[in-house]
Amino acid sequence: MNLTVIGTGYVGLVSGACFAEMGNRVTCVDVDTKKIENLKKGIIPIYEPGLEPMVARNIENKTLFFSTDLKESLRKCEVAFIAVGTPMGEDGSADLKYVLQVAREIGEHMVAPLIVVDKSTVPVGTADKVTAAMREVLDARGVDFSFHVVSNPEFLKEGDAINDFMKPDRVVVGSDDAEATEKMRSLYAPFFRSSMDRLITMDVRSAEMTKYVANAMLATKISFMNEVANICELVGADVNKVRIGIGSDSRIGYSFIYPGSGYGGSCFPKDVKALIKTAAQHGYTAELIGAVEDVNDRQKLVVAQKVVDRFGEDLSGLTFAIWGLAFKPQTDDMREAPSIYIIKELVKRGAQIQAYDPKAMDEARHFYLKDVPKVAYFDSKYETLKGADAMILLTEWKEFRSPDFEELKAQLNAPIIFDGRNQYNDGKLRQMGFEYYQIGKQSLP
Ligand code: NAD
Repeated sequence: MNLTVIGTGYVGLVSGACFAEMGNRVTCVDVDTKKIENLKKGIIPIYEPGLEPMVARNIENKTLFFSTDLKESLRKCEVAFIAVGTPMGEDGSADLKYVLQVAREIGEHMVAPLIVVDKSTVPVGTADKVTAAMREVLDARGVDFSFHVVSNPEFLKEGDAINDFMKPDRVVVGSDDAEATEKMRSLYAPFFRSSMDRLITMDVRSAEMTKYVANAMLATKISFMNEVANICELVGADVNKVRIGIGSDSRIGYSFIYPGSGYGGSCFPKDVKALIKTAAQHGYTAELIGAVEDVNDRQKLVVAQKVVDRFGEDLSGLTFAIWGLAFKPQTDDMREAPSIYIIKELVKRGAQIQAYDPKAMDEARHFYLKDVPKVAYFDSKYETLKGADAMILLTEWKEFRSPDFEELKAQLNAPIIFDGRNQYNDGKLRQMGFEYYQIGKQSLP
């Protein structure tokens, strides 16, 4: 099929590359000229495992093209995907300005019948708004091409996005038109070799809602476990054992019940907020989902509080080595990362930071911690330790899982670890003479 994917961020670029990999002819369109020029040369703006070779292969095979010219790309297009950002608006709702701008542009440039797919995460009712925006422009042009707006929310996880897209747990297609549904079914058929059961079709509004509910459910699991961790710590229980104890119940399961420093990233915080807002707009107070957000806001600061409890309110003259800045491993994405909040808390109290992350340091340096003084960046995890008064682990990258603890001890001013992701064995660390602070378990002398 001839496809256009509008927006070449994490979702658009991965979707475009994966559709091209299946033999479709895909043009990825973006307004960011520099990004497009780089992509044409195979330079990828984000870190996503496996993406670079896939893009290069499909450029070479002439299945993947990059352009800033939406008009040209729509000339032979059968399905156009909207994959632009839907950031948090000032009132907490999803800001649809980019989505509706693209809808108007499609209306302006389409020259034949078209299926328009909302792949961005958009609130219930957005397909109607996209339809109205396109219809208005088509009417102004005095033309009447048929089109259908389909909701096909994306569930990929950054860091494992290619795998998620190529072998999806499910693909949700919300459509009120049988022909459009069939077209989507044939587009996704190559991704389901054994059975099409995992392509779930439904009405547009339910599909739009499904994405928010999935993210709110996952965020709820995280906040629930973080709340449990905080209680465990107070009553002298070990959340790591409690986690294993409850996960063995198949109704609960082990996934997504790890305590930590709170969720971040480009999706959970904004999507949880947007769902609360949607409910409020319909006169309903989403109590539980609101609490999920409150618990998360508090959790982001738990590690900083542990540092203050150990060293006192005034951290001037102290240096902390930070391992991990990205909101999760295997990505350079720092949007809403707990590290931003924790580092700011420490710096506010006078601390000096020595940070290392395998992929996110450029993002931190140039954007998310640009205005935060006293943060120095190092090329390796061990270099950050020299002269530091403690190490603080904030992202569970594999390379942090089993470090050389003798080296840590030798480099740090004192053997103290604050672990925001419960990665280490406290018994072993205590034996080695470390002071070890983790989430959801009292640290023993
Ligand atoms: P992003 O911010 O990384 O990328 C958006 C891109 O859209 C940018 O390159 C921007 O230049 C481009 N753009 C903006 N306006 C445009 C226009 N008028 N024409 C062409 N391009 C335009 O966003 P993302 O992380 O890929 O997220 C996109 C959507 O997918 C959001 O709604 C998000 O919630 C959703 N989503 C994201 C993820 C994720 O893990 N990042 C996962 C699932 C769903």
